[in-house]
Amino acid sequence: MKTPITIAYGDGIGPEIMKATLKILEAAGAQLSYEEIEIGEKVYLQGISAGIKNEAWDSLRKTKVFLKAPITTPQGKGFKSLNVTTRKSLGLFANVRPCVSYYPYVKTKHPKMDLVIIRENEEDLYAGIEHRQTDDVYQCLKLITRPGCEKIVRYAFDYARAYGRKKVTCMSKDNIMKITDGLFHRVFDEIGKEYPEIEKEHHIIDIGSALIADTPERFDVIVTLNLYGDIISDIAAQVAGSVGLGGSANIGEHCAMFEAIHGSAPDIAGRNIANPSGILNSAIMMLVHIGQPQVAEKIQNAWLCTIEEGVHTADIYKEGISSVKVGTQEFADEVIKRLGKKPQKFAPASYASDSVKTIKIHTYERKKQKKEMIGVDVFLHWDNGTPNDLGSQLSKLNGDGLMLKMISNRGVKVWPDGLPETFCTDHWRCRFVADTINPSNPDDLSGVKPVTHQQILNLLNRVTQAGFDFVKTESLCVFDGQKAYSLGQGE
Ligand code: NAD
Repeated sequence: MKTPITIAYGDGIGPEIMKATLKILEAAGAQLSYEEIEIGEKVYLQGISAGIKNEAWDSLRKTKVFLKAPITTPQGKGFKSLNVTTRKSLGLFANVRPCVSYYPYVKTKHPKMDLVIIRENEEDLYAGIEHRQTDDVYQCLKLITRPGCEKIVRYAFDYARAYGRKKVTCMSKDNIMKITDGLFHRVFDEIGKEYPEIEKEHHIIDIGSALIADTPERFDVIVTLNLYGDIISDIAAQVAGSVGLGGSANIGEHCAMFEAIHGSAPDIAGRNIANPSGILNSAIMMLVHIGQPQVAEKIQNAWLCTIEEGVHTADIYKEGISSVKVGTQEFADEVIKRLGKKPQKFAPASYASDSVKTIKIHTYERKKQKKEMIGVDVFLHWDNGTPNDLGSQLSKLNGDGLMLKMISNRGVKVWPDGLPETFCTDHWRCRFVADTINPSNPDDLSGVKPVTHQQILNLLNRVTQAGFDFVKTESLCVFDGQKAYSLGQGE
């Protein structure tokens, strides 16, 4: 039974490296049938801003597996990232990028590096919800969800288990973003308990990135949020010394996409000198994913033999290390010649062992909690004076169960008792809370009467009638009695 997959030859070096890869898949006995779609530059230049035609989605939704060559994104505004569109439209929540060094055959400062980055792919600042709110201030919304965190964290632990990896490291910035990154870290701690045999650790992303650059061999599997994952996966690929060799998988509940980590390399396109290893390594990940691990193992072992015997394309060719320089198609032929052989110096791949299972995507069960509003943050566009002027004008709008508690500017409390040194923009967060909160014990919410939407609408009415321009509001809620908002710095 052949597994149907969708393929795209892409742009630049895409067609050459895809052709070389398909030749190896065929020779190794991969049971695949292909549906080809057109994506990338040609499609963009036809005026389709997503870089992919509607018909192509039908094929992707049918086969559910996409082997994609790199594409060229035209310069200029108006073109949407095809990768981001594909990941989001098909729900490809997990980006899996192994970063391995192939020392001494590929130059690297980190001979023992062998880590896998599992990056959340759908959430975070990549939601693309951005607004300009005032003359000074622009905003990008960071959205982190419990289902999103649970899915990616479980995937990372299940991946570690399936591939015999020993440790999962979580990276976040929850010392600053206690609610959003805090959720990611908390979910990691909660779910980690279900995997007692796997070692767990957490690093703040800044020192975590430094450690990847310095001592990457200390890491095994790393799980992190979208933006951090984007950055550290390039750092890791670069320090492995093998940007041209790395493959990646984008995994979803229904579909999956496999591609090299490099781009379309237009500078070397059409010259038969590109290294096809990146897309070949993605295709190996694909074969494991679709349940053909024996073929994956056979190809990876032949590829490792080719690399350790010094048969190299120009990008990794080094006098004294390499034995022969080959072109793209000749490299494919050399891999084919070694099918069935095991590497002598590198550890052989062993995907076909019983321990490898398809990673199940867990379903999410929403736990409903009791939600109550106890106030509102009203954001104003205002530049008519000092924080104290604003505080005294807004305090006059207190009433109907709400009172002004605090004003902050860019998150720093400036009223009451702000510091004159704090730089202020024209964007003010004005926190009104239920006047039943005891000011001397604000954490005791036992006697607090929740605030209604109508009270907030009445407040906004008073704010507008007093001549203020509100640019947005955020409700201040408690869930099952737990405050669900951060304090202003200095509050
Ligand atoms: P690139 O990865 O295409 O090239 C960077 C350098 O690495 C170039 O010198 C190139 O010759 C070399 N290189 C890359 N792959 C190679 C290979 N397989 N063999 C030998 N050398 C290789 O990055 P770029 O130049 O920044 O981007 C070129 C185009 O690719 C841009 O249009 C960019 O938007 C696009 N891009 C696409 C993807 C994708 O489709 N997933 C990813 C990254 C960049």
